[in-house]
This record gives sequence, C-alpha cells and structure tokens, in this order.
Amino acid sequence: MKLALIGFGQAGGKVVDAFCAFEEMIDRSFIEASIAVNSATADLRGLEHVAQEDRVLIGQSRVKGHGVGADNDLGAQVTEMDLDEIQAAIDRVPVHDLDAFLIVAGLGGGTGSGGAPVLAKHLDRIYTEPVYGLGILPGMDEGGIYTLNAARSFRTFVREVDSLLVFDNDAWRRMGESVGDSYDRTNREIAERFGRLFAAGEVNEDDDVAESVVDSSEIINTLSGGIATVGYATEPLNTSGGGLLSRVTGDSPSTPDETTSTNRMTSLIRKATLGRLTLPCDVSSAERGLVVATGPSESLSRKGIERGRTWLEEETASMEIRGGDYPIPDAGEVGSIVLLSGVTDIDRVEQLQGVAVEAQETTADVQQRSDEQFDSLLDTGGELNALF
Ligand code: GDP
Repeated sequence: MKLALIGFGQAGGKVVDAFCAFEEMIDRSFIEASIAVNSATADLRGLEHVAQEDRVLIGQSRVKGHGVGADNDLGAQVTEMDLDEIQAAIDRVPVHDLDAFLIVAGLGGGTGSGGAPVLAKHLDRIYTEPVYGLGILPGMDEGGIYTLNAARSFRTFVREVDSLLVFDNDAWRRMGESVGDSYDRTNREIAERFGRLFAAGEVNEDDDVAESVVDSSEIINTLSGGIATVGYATEPLNTSGGGLLSRVTGDSPSTPDETTSTNRMTSLIRKATLGRLTLPCDVSSAERGLVVATGPSESLSRKGIERGRTWLEEETASMEIRGGDYPIPDAGEVGSIVLLSGVTDIDRVEQLQGVAVEAQETTADVQQRSDEQFDSLLDTGGELNALF
C-alpha cells in the first residue's frame, strides 16, 4: 500500500530513513512521500534519505532549534503552534494516490512523544485516509522520565490513530551492544518487518498477480483499531541446485514436494506468531489477524497458508484472520509475516503504566519537598526584606 511516512523526533526521522533504505533494497515502492519533523536542527541534519525540503523544523520561536529536552508537554505545544508548517509539507504530497498516513515516533522522548499524537489528531480531522501510528517504546533502563513520557504519549496516540503499531526497544535489545549500534540494528528490523507488510499490498507492473496476492484493503481492514504487533520468520531456500545427497548420488535437483512446502509454510506461520513480535503480547487476545506468505511463487503453498491461517484462527479464537501471498520472484528465502491487531493482553504496556504512575508520584513528592525546603531555606522569620 502507498504510504506517506512522517517521522517525528529523532527516532521517528531515523526510522523513516531506514524505511526509505529498505524500499530501495527490495525494489518495490510503498512510500509515496517521506517527511521528517523535529524541533532540533542537528537531528534533521543527520538524516540521509529524507529530502531537504521535506525536513520540517518546528518550535523555532520557543526552542531555537535546540529540541525540547525530553519535555513532551512542550513537544505537543510547539507542534500545535507550528501545525501549518507541517501541513505545508503534506500539501506537496499527492494525497489522492495515498492509502494511508504513518506517523513514526519514539514515545520516550519529547518532540515525537508529544507531537505525534497532535499531528495524528490534525490529519484525522482533515483527511479520509486512515492515519496509523508506529510508536517505539523505550528500554526499561532508560529511566523514569522516559517511561512516564512513553506511557502518557501511548494513551494519547492510540486514541488519535486508526491503529497503533508498536515496537518495543526493550524486547529487541542485545546484551553488550552500544546504544548507537543497537538503534541502527533495530531500525533495520523495524523497517524490514513493517516495510514488508506494507510492501505486500503493492505489486510491480510485471509481477505475476495471482488472485491470492494480498491487497491493501486487507491490511486496512485488519488495522481497524487498537494496538497492532508484527511477527516475521524466514527460511532459506536451497538455491544451490540440489542438496548434498543429490550431489553425491548425481540425481538432478528436485523442487520440494507439495508436502514439504505445505509443512514449511505452516511452520513459518507458527514461528512468526510464536517467535519475537515487535510488541510481545498474548496472541490469544488478538481481535484480527493477517498472514502473508513471502517468497518465489512456486514456493508459496496455498495449502500451507490455509492451514496456517486456520491454526491462527484457533489460537486467537477470531474469525477475522485474513491470508494472502506476497510473491517475490528470485528470492532466496521463503517467509511469513503475521500481523496481529486489536491485541489487549500486553504485559509490557501494563508494566510501563505501573512504572509511569510511580514515577509521576515520585516526581510530585520530590517537587513538593523541594518547594518546602526552598521556602524553609529563605525563611528568616521576617527579619530580612527582599529588594522589591
Ligand atoms: P525526540 O527527538 O525528543 O522525539 O526523542 P528521541 O526520538 O531522541 O528519543 C525518544 C526515544 O526513542 C528514546 O527514549 C529511545 O527509547 C528511542 N530512540 C531514540 N533513537 C532511536 C533509534 O534510532 N531507534 C530506536 N529504535 N529507538 C530510538
């Protein structure tokens, strides 16, 4: 499907950049426009793929291009003030060619965390196209302020978008990796998972368009509310022209038989669902789902997809599990993307909210104590007058 990507804040901009790099790599166009919005000049300068004219600096009169310093209330305020500047960039997008907007932001910071929900509300009022969010949750080790920001932004963002796709940095970090390396890697993971899903609804002119190819409307119907998460699994195809046995025996390389490709596809769908999701959750709480099989047409077993789809229906007790193909001629692997939508049983969100409530209470206590101590410090019992 054709998207207008809007990266809000530093993480949002970098992830949009990663989506553009991914699109170039897969040679299938799903990005109609890419825009980056930030209150920090330096962050906009660091982008590689978003065109200069599509980088929008907001809040200049308030923060002079220096960012909002993890203050998401300020992020929301400067966005509200400068909505016209963002709208001017969106006015250049041929909206009639779009299937949806996707606003990407790290929810733990200030600009994206505060601004993304404000923009979502604005776009939803103006356009009939769906407005989706892609929210990145901070790592648990980032501290109270980031957790509090993320929890408050999450509540607001999910209310303002047609569906909130979520990626949890905490679930995807690796021990011993530097923050920079970790972000580069996770941004590629984000772009690959969500990018493949959105690219699935797009076909090139010369593609073999079978009836079973997934359509944008199926993605849109699956993303019809609440929180969404994505799973992905792949398996390399034996492209070397026969395995060890055929080389030893001299037999000609054989294409996998029907049973092998059926079993492989069913097992990939299970692996994608039960492996690491972008936001880990209890799969049985999903309200809707979409299963997409990727790889060369001849390896996409209809029977395997159908079995996998039925299995997911049983896992989720949902009747709304869609399925389809995303044929990629000459791919060296076969894979499965599973989109689960309307998920509600999510430990990470409960935990995030719990820590955020504590952080909010601690902040209020500290503030009160500090005010009292300051008053007591300056209290001379009325023996000293201020200048004015
Ligand atoms: P903003 O510029 O004020 O919106 O804040 P940032 O985007 O810099 O940071 C917000 C949160 O996003 C951080 O707390 C991190 O959890 C996360 N984050 C920052 N940069 C990246 C990145 O490149 N990739 C990922 N996956 N997360 C990031």
